[in-house]
Amino acid sequence: MIVSSHWRGRRYAVLGLARTGAATVRALVAGGAQVVAWDSDPARREGFGGVEIADLDNVDFAGVDALVVSPGVPLNTHPLAARARAIGVPITGDIELFAEARADLPPHKVVGITGTNGKSTTTALVTHILTTAGIPALMGGNIGLPILAQEPLPAGGVYVLELSSYQIDLTRTLDCDVAVLLNITPDHLDRYDGFDGYVASKARLFAMQSSEHEAVIGIGDAPSADIARSLSARGEHLTKIAPGVCLDQSRWPSLKGPHNAHNALAAIAAAKALGVRAADIDRALETFTGLPHRMEKVREVAGVAYVDDSKATNPESTAPALGAFPRVHWIVGGRAKGDDLDACRPFFDHVVRAYTIGEAGPRFAAILKDAMPVDEAGTLAAAVAGAARAAAPGDTVLLSPAAASFDQFRDYEHRGQAFREAVEALA
Ligand code: ADP
Repeated sequence: MIVSSHWRGRRYAVLGLARTGAATVRALVAGGAQVVAWDSDPARREGFGGVEIADLDNVDFAGVDALVVSPGVPLNTHPLAARARAIGVPITGDIELFAEARADLPPHKVVGITGTNGKSTTTALVTHILTTAGIPALMGGNIGLPILAQEPLPAGGVYVLELSSYQIDLTRTLDCDVAVLLNITPDHLDRYDGFDGYVASKARLFAMQSSEHEAVIGIGDAPSADIARSLSARGEHLTKIAPGVCLDQSRWPSLKGPHNAHNALAAIAAAKALGVRAADIDRALETFTGLPHRMEKVREVAGVAYVDDSKATNPESTAPALGAFPRVHWIVGGRAKGDDLDACRPFFDHVVRAYTIGEAGPRFAAILKDAMPVDEAGTLAAAVAGAARAAAPGDTVLLSPAAASFDQFRDYEHRGQAFREAVEALA
C-alpha cells in the first residue's frame, strides 16, 4: 500500500467506495487520517474498520480537510462538489493523494499519459518497455489496480499512470517526470462546459509539471498542437509526435495500424526520456502483446478473422480499426456519443457490409446506407450470426462500435465478452 505521512491527523470525506474509493480509504486510514465515507450502495459500505460511515449530505464540511471523490462523480453537476466549493474545501482524488505520498517513496520517476484515445495501449506499452529493460515499473490510474493499493516500487522504479481528464481535474500537484498527451478529439462533453473545458483539462497535466521535465505531445489535431506551441519555451524537453510518420511496424504483432504507430512513437519518446536503451525499446516493441478489447483477434473461422475492438467507443477510435483491415464486416452501434460517424468516413470503402446494433442502430443505419450495404441487426448476437453467414475467406468481422456500451451491456468489457462468446459459439 502507498501511504503519506502528510495525511496523519487530517480529516477526509470520501465519496464512492468501489475499487478506487475503497483502496483510498484503506490507504488514508493506514496513513493515520480520520475518514468519513459513503456510498449509495449499502453493500459497498461494509468492511471498513476505523472508518465513520455516514451520508455525506449530513456531514458538516467545516471540519473536513478535503473531499475525495472518484473520477466517476461529475464535478460540474454534483451537489456535494458545489457544497465543498462553496466553503473552500478542496476536492481531490487518488492521483493527488499519490502525488502527496511521493515524498515518502524511495527515489522514483512518474510518467503520466493522457489523450482521448490510446491511453491504455500507450501506458501498457511504456510499462512493458521499462520492464523489458529491467527497470521496476507498475501501471496505475485509469488502468490496472488502484495506485494507492499497490506496493511501493524499489528505488529507481517508474510509476506509469494512465490519466483520464476526470483524474487530471482532481489532481493539483502531480509533477510528472514525463507527461504524454496523445490526442484530443471531442468526447465526454457532458462533463465539461464545452470542448474548451475538456482541452483545458488535458493542458493542466503540463501546467502541473516543472518546466525542465519532459513533455511528449502528439500534434495530429489542432488543440494538441496548440498545447505543444504553448510549451515551445521548453526547447529540447518537448518532443512533438507528428501525424503520418512512416514506420516499419512489421515486427510489432500487437501494434498494427497508424494509430498504434502514433502510440508507439509516443511510448518510444517517453522511454528515451527515461534513458532506456534503443535495443531494449526494440525488443519490447516486438514482444508487446497488446490489451484485451483493443483490436484483439479473438478467433479465425473458415479463413475469416473475428476482431474485438469493443473499447472503441467513439468514431475517432473506430476509424483506425476500419483502416487496419481491407475487407471489413463492421458491427457498429450502442449508445452514441455524437451525431455522426464522420471520422470513419475515409475508411468506408474498407467496409463490405455494416451490421447496426443498439440504441444508435437506426440512426447509424440511416447515415451508412448510401455508402454500403447495411443490416439492421439490433443485437450483437444477430450481428455476429449475420456477418458469419456473409463473410468470405480473407474478410474480417470487426466489432468496433464507435459508441458507448451502456444501452445493452454493463461496460465495454462485457460487450467484448459477449462478442467473444457469440464468436466461440460459431460452428
Ligand atoms: P484509451 O485508454 O484512451 O481509451 P485504448 O488504448 O484503450 O485508449 O484504445 C481505445 C480505442 O482507441 C481502441 O479501439 C483503439 O483501436 C483506438 N486507438 C488507440 N490508439 C489510438 C490513437 N492514437 N488514435 C485514435 N484511436 C486510437
